[in-house]
Amino acid sequence: MATAAAGGRRRRVLFFPLPYQGHINPMFQLAGLLHARGFSITVFHVRFNAPDASAHPAYDFVSVPDDGMPADSPDTVQATMDHIVSVNRACEAPFRERLAALLERQRARAEDVACLVADSHLLTLLGVARGLGVPTLALRLGSAACFRCLTAFPMLCDKGYLPVQESSQLDAPVVELPPYRIGDLPASSAAAHGQLREVLSRVVTAVTTSSGLILDTFDALEADELAALRRDLAVPVFDVGPLHKLSPAASSSLLRQDRGCLDWLDGQPPASVLYVSFGSLASVSASDLVETAWGIANSGRPFLWVLRPGLVRGAPPSSISLPDGFDAATRGRGVVVSWAPQEEVLAHPAVGGFWTHCGWNSTLEGVCAGVPMLCRPFFADQMGNARYVDHVWRTGVTIDGELQRGKVEAAISTLMGAGEPGAGMRRRALELKNSAAASIGEAGSSSVNVDMLVSLIQSM
Ligand code: UDP
Repeated sequence: MATAAAGGRRRRVLFFPLPYQGHINPMFQLAGLLHARGFSITVFHVRFNAPDASAHPAYDFVSVPDDGMPADSPDTVQATMDHIVSVNRACEAPFRERLAALLERQRARAEDVACLVADSHLLTLLGVARGLGVPTLALRLGSAACFRCLTAFPMLCDKGYLPVQESSQLDAPVVELPPYRIGDLPASSAAAHGQLREVLSRVVTAVTTSSGLILDTFDALEADELAALRRDLAVPVFDVGPLHKLSPAASSSLLRQDRGCLDWLDGQPPASVLYVSFGSLASVSASDLVETAWGIANSGRPFLWVLRPGLVRGAPPSSISLPDGFDAATRGRGVVVSWAPQEEVLAHPAVGGFWTHCGWNSTLEGVCAGVPMLCRPFFADQMGNARYVDHVWRTGVTIDGELQRGKVEAAISTLMGAGEPGAGMRRRALELKNSAAASIGEAGSSSVNVDMLVSLIQSM
């Protein structure tokens, strides 16, 4: 097993996550993995969504001022782009100053800085590090398929797939990039298309100008997509996922996880519970909340539902009210929490289905748990992830179009009912779970890639 010691000097790896839950978790998991291999860890972070340093006593933390960043979590493509642009802009000068100071201190210690691992959205900060002589690796949080889509983005625009002109085009196939349809591509409003193209092209540049691309995926899940990336990119590609299974790092959850729901799950029959969660950023309309609630209630199945503060647009963040009669209709059959220990919930034997927004972490966590998925994507890479779940891996169903309680009830029944097609989805989900476990076993593809990544970092 490759470890950090190189010529007796300890090596330090620096991290800079993008400040969202779905980006912070895998970066901490990767940090945990490298720490276990003997590297010292420093995490740079902005004040917005700052990680809890006390949960990681072995790491150093450096806070970088983020003056001018919007204070709210983004829940749309536009807001996310504005956030990403402003993190890069706000942090450039203070990060340079803090990194230079850290490098100065390190010279006096028996320790070298090996490299910076930064989120692939932080092109400016990766450039700052290289300017100070620090090698860089880009952690891209999304599937290999999605990254291929970003590299193909200019071609997709030139060929007229994007920006989308008419909603009638959404089902048309993207022939150069199967199995995507136009509606599965990351897209924005036509007015913001130029900005989206720029933001995505910066991600690709962040990767191609770094010393390597790290992806939280595994070969058996995306063999063709990874092979295509290796063929097309001049930098090495390290698929080291599923990181949450390889590296059970201390919690990096920004919200308090309600662990009581695990006790409730203990009392439920095997594979009986539908777990419902839309991640940390997506928001729903008040009417979609009502349709979701009645779809779940009418399905007659036990459920665990995450109603995160701020989930419902226009509702006060701290109090989400469910429709009249919902409590009575579901009494004794369901639990609602504001944030769950999702990885443990999904791994619980009582959970038999996962209604997800298809954020990449949730998708991968669902894959590793071997549960079939009900997909309801919102934005960014979520539509493409849903496409892979229902069309490529065939481990779930997607609810398209307007959300209606009848559609929800039917989808839950397909997913969790005894007959086909649900039984086939569950069988394939179990096969994928086993290949995820094999990828991180001895000589598994991701284990081998972790070793290669460690060797590369040692050589930097
Ligand atoms: N998560 C959690 N508790 C919840 C819901 C989500 O811990 O109640 C975690 C989940 O395990 C995942 C992350 O939050 O690691 C969400 O990331 P994802 O990429 O799925 O979606 P995003 O929040 O970025 O849209």
